[in-house]
Amino acid sequence: MNINEIFYISEKDWYALQGWATIAHSEDKNEISGLMTAIPQKDGRFKVSDVEILKQQNTGTNTELDGDAVSAYMMKYGMKYNNPDMKFVWWHSHHTMEAFWSGTDTNEIDAWKNNSFSLALVINLKEEYLFRVSFWKTNGLPVEQHIDTTLTVERKEPKINITAHMKKKYEELCSTPTVTNIYNGYNRNGVVRNPNQANLWQRNNEAELSMERAYNQVLEKAESLQDSYMDGTLKLGDWNKEVKEINKVCNKNKLPFKMKVWNLNKHDLQNKLMVTLPAELFEWEDNLVQERIETIAWNASFGYGGNNVY
Ligand SMILES: [Zn+2]
Repeated sequence: MNINEIFYISEKDWYALQGWATIAHSEDKNEISGLMTAIPQKDGRFKVSDVEILKQQNTGTNTELDGDAVSAYMMKYGMKYNNPDMKFVWWHSHHTMEAFWSGTDTNEIDAWKNNSFSLALVINLKEEYLFRVSFWKTNGLPVEQHIDTTLTVERKEPKINITAHMKKKYEELCSTPTVTNIYNGYNRNGVVRNPNQANLWQRNNEAELSMERAYNQVLEKAESLQDSYMDGTLKLGDWNKEVKEINKVCNKNKLPFKMKVWNLNKHDLQNKLMVTLPAELFEWEDNLVQERIETIAWNASFGYGGNNVY
């Protein structure tokens, strides 16, 4: 399991956090903090819940939990779950500021140092967040590592209702074109393809061509996500979610590639994406397949080919 798939929170609890952050900001323009539990589940993931605020002192730029209240919370839920593998999550809000780790925040994270790992969450009112897993020992060695990763907000499945009527209409109106449809004139860049390319295409088998189509679709999607992230319309949390969605699709269709998962913070991702070509957003199971499909996709995009006359 990838670390970004491990931790999740219900939509209800996520909005409870947002609720507390909103009250503290609208009443006093203050930060606010509290604790949550992270309980290991049978599927190997950790469920984050039991959102509570505790007795605390807050300002616009700081929040401090009362020590006795922290002990009481830990005692209460320690007894409730009686699970030595459970963790606590220290959470706090930066209201209208960015979700980032300040010096005070990393001091607080250090205070949760233990013999395995600890968890911390900072949110803001735009629903941006950083969720940090701090490993304090690596295989028994005192090597510390902090990873900002995904806290998945579990939302209810959208209800998709496919009626018999829709099925009938679909059969009636929709058909799957044969491989010749790839000569349909324009590609996604609006470049007219040279019909002489038929020779080139005929050298590629059906499976490769359908893979190339899938690759181009996913590449296009990834490219537009990259654009949206760079111009600020897509937030970090949404980027992570979208990448996950794309990888779900790749996985489901047994495609030999998926999007890279970097686990970067907002700023580092921005820098990374600035110097990354859309094709570099992907990792492949096999270099040879990658080369082959990228070449076909490249030819399709630009109309290049052995017998091309552009
Ligand atoms: Zn902070």
